[in-house]
Amino acid sequence: MLLLSASFVLLVHTGAVALPTAAAPEAIEKVPMQTQSSTQNTNVLFIVLDTTRYDHMSAYGYPRKTTPVFDELAEYGVLFENSYSVVPYTTSSHISMMSSQYPFVYQPRPMRANSSGFVTIPEKYLMMAEVLKANGYNTAAVISVGMMDWDSGLSQGFDYYNFPPGVRLAAETTPFALDWLEENANNGKFFLWFHLYDPHDNYMEHDGITEQYVDYNKMYDELYPQHFTEIRKVISRYDGEIRFGDDHIGMVIDKLEELGVKDNTLIVYTSDHGEQFGEHETPFYRGMSFPVLYEHARTLYDQETHVPLVMSLPGTLPEGKKVDSFVEHVDLMPTVLDVLGIPSTEKAQGVSLLPLMQGDVNSFRQFAFTHLYPIISPYYKSAVQEECWKYIYDHYQDEPQLFNLCDDPQETINLVDEEHEQALRLEEKLIEHIENYSGSVEGATPEFDVETFQRLRALGYLQ
Ligand SMILES: [Zn+2]
Repeated sequence: MLLLSASFVLLVHTGAVALPTAAAPEAIEKVPMQTQSSTQNTNVLFIVLDTTRYDHMSAYGYPRKTTPVFDELAEYGVLFENSYSVVPYTTSSHISMMSSQYPFVYQPRPMRANSSGFVTIPEKYLMMAEVLKANGYNTAAVISVGMMDWDSGLSQGFDYYNFPPGVRLAAETTPFALDWLEENANNGKFFLWFHLYDPHDNYMEHDGITEQYVDYNKMYDELYPQHFTEIRKVISRYDGEIRFGDDHIGMVIDKLEELGVKDNTLIVYTSDHGEQFGEHETPFYRGMSFPVLYEHARTLYDQETHVPLVMSLPGTLPEGKKVDSFVEHVDLMPTVLDVLGIPSTEKAQGVSLLPLMQGDVNSFRQFAFTHLYPIISPYYKSAVQEECWKYIYDHYQDEPQLFNLCDDPQETINLVDEEHEQALRLEEKLIEHIENYSGSVEGATPEFDVETFQRLRALGYLQ
C-alpha cells in the first residue's frame, strides 16, 4: 500500500529532509470587538453536560426519556443533528468551544506537566467570555471539575469563576448557579457557563431516576449484541446520570423563567464529547481488576466525537428546526457572538451557524475534522469525515482506517485497502485542514506542523 501515511511517520522519525521553515506566525491582536445591535441586551446561558453521547438523548431518538429539558429546547429552538467535538477530551474540548481554535494552539500546563490531559490555552487568545465582557456582559462560570481551573486558561474573561478542587455532583454545583442568577440576572446582561460532570464515569445511581432505566429488555440486545450482561447495568447507570444532569439543567432554566429573563436568554446546550461502551472492542484497565468497557479520549469513532447541540432563543432563532449539516465546536463562539450582533474575532477558526439556523444556507461544512492531540493524551490521531466516508489516521501506529458510514455507521469494517482512492482523497483533505489551521499558530506542536506536509509535497507523495 502506498498511502501517504506510512511515509509520513518515517519522515517524522528520520527528519532526513531539510526544507524551508514555515512563514512566521502572525501575532494575534487581543482587542475584543464592541458593538450595538437589536439583540444587544440578550443574555447567554451556555450549558455543557459532560460525556453525553448524542444517541443516548431522547431528542435524537433514544428510546429512553433521558433528556426532557434538552428535548424541550429542541422543540422551541434549533437541533443540530451532526455536531462534532473537535477533540473528545474535557479541558481541550472546552478550550476549543470557548476560543474557536482547533487543538494546535494548546500548550501543556507547566504546573501539572506530568498529568496527561492537563492543557492550557495561552493568554493571547481571545476567549468568548472576554469578548462578551468587553461588550458589557457580567460573566460567570459555574463548573464541576477542578481540571478546568485558572491554569487551564478557560477562566479568561470571567468575573466569577466557581469550580471545585476535584469533582462535584450536579446537586452540589447547581446551587452556585442559582444563587448567582438570583443576584445578577436582573442586574445587566449576563453570560453564564454552566457545566455538569455527572455522565462522566464512575456512573452513580440516583434514587428515583436510575430504577427507571433498569429495564433489561431486548433493546440492549439490539443496541449492544456483542456485550456481556454487565454492560447493561453500566448503561442504565449512565443513562440515569444523563437524566440527573438534565434535571439540574432544568432547574437553572426554571430559574431564568422565575426571574423573568428566560425569553431574553440565548440557551446553548451541548456536551464536550461522547463515550464508548466497548463498541470497538477497546476495553482497558485503569487500576481495576476487571475490564472497563466505557471510556473516551481514546479514539475518534462517532461514539466519542458526535455530540448533542441545541440552541434556543424564541423570536430570534427558528423554533423546532433541525439542521443536518456538519457543525463543529469551533463554531460555537462565532455563533453566539453573531446572534448577539457582535463581530466574530478575526482569528476565530470556526464560522457562525446563524445563516444555517435562519435557512439562508442549507449546508456549509462538507467535512468534519476531529483530533486526539499528543500533549493531551497518549493518543495521536486525526480524522476527517463526510456524508458517507470517514478516514482516521493514527499517527503513532501508522494505521489508516477508512469506513463507509452509509453502509457501516458503526465503523467496524476498515476499507482502506479496498477503497484506496477514497482513502487518499480524504487523507489529502485532512492534511490540507491541518496545514490551514496549524500553519499560523506560533508554537504548534512540532509533529503536527506545516513543515512535515511541505516535505511530503516536495517528495511527490502529495499531488
Ligand atoms: Zn468531558
